[in-house]
Amino acid sequence: MRILIVEDDPDLGRQLSEALGDAGYAVDKATDGEEGHFLGDTEPYDAVVLDLGLPVIDGISILQKWRADGKDFPVLILTARDQWSEKVAGFDAGADDYLTKPFHTEELLARLRALVRRAAGHTTDTIDIGGLTVDNRAGRAFVDGSPIKLTSHEFRLLSYMAMHVDKVISRTELVEHIYDQDFDRDSNTIEVFIGRLRRKIGVNRIETVRGLGYRLVDPEEDPGGEKT
Ligand code: CA
Repeated sequence: MRILIVEDDPDLGRQLSEALGDAGYAVDKATDGEEGHFLGDTEPYDAVVLDLGLPVIDGISILQKWRADGKDFPVLILTARDQWSEKVAGFDAGADDYLTKPFHTEELLARLRALVRRAAGHTTDTIDIGGLTVDNRAGRAFVDGSPIKLTSHEFRLLSYMAMHVDKVISRTELVEHIYDQDFDRDSNTIEVFIGRLRRKIGVNRIETVRGLGYRLVDPEEDPGGEKT
């Protein structure tokens, strides 16, 4: 899962990106409204944390532009305390949730998890797929109750696939959702990651759909489709 943070306060920005990175997200950061708008316009984020008071373009205007352009990622706005009118303006512009500064990191993480899972059509942080359990809150995975040792990138990949279980996901899509923009992205490494994941969770849990991508499945159920 990949998150964009648009925040001009350097300390808060750093604190947020560290917390989100530690929580297992790929994180991009923008420090002014123009850069923030551009990134949200060009990259497929799983959620955005948007400060409202920003240099160049304010947060409400950015959000209005994104929504007018059909960007549907969940957006959590950061508002000043007691500014109820900011919250209303934010929701009217297309925000999905808000937090009042100052806030506890744990609350931000919980709200983000809720936004991300809801956008993907899940109701809880734990996804169970025929004995494979992906716990997005704890950042852990289990097969038949036994914990699986995964690197942070492997978990990010598995988490994204679990959020989109039974859907065919292209390598490009995986690259875009598990790496931040500064990472040296190479879609060939996805194949390596998939290979490692298959060895850890069971070969038959990830199907290769020739020419299209990969699909995480419950091996006990056959969703049909071409297998290799
Ligand atoms: Ca600000």
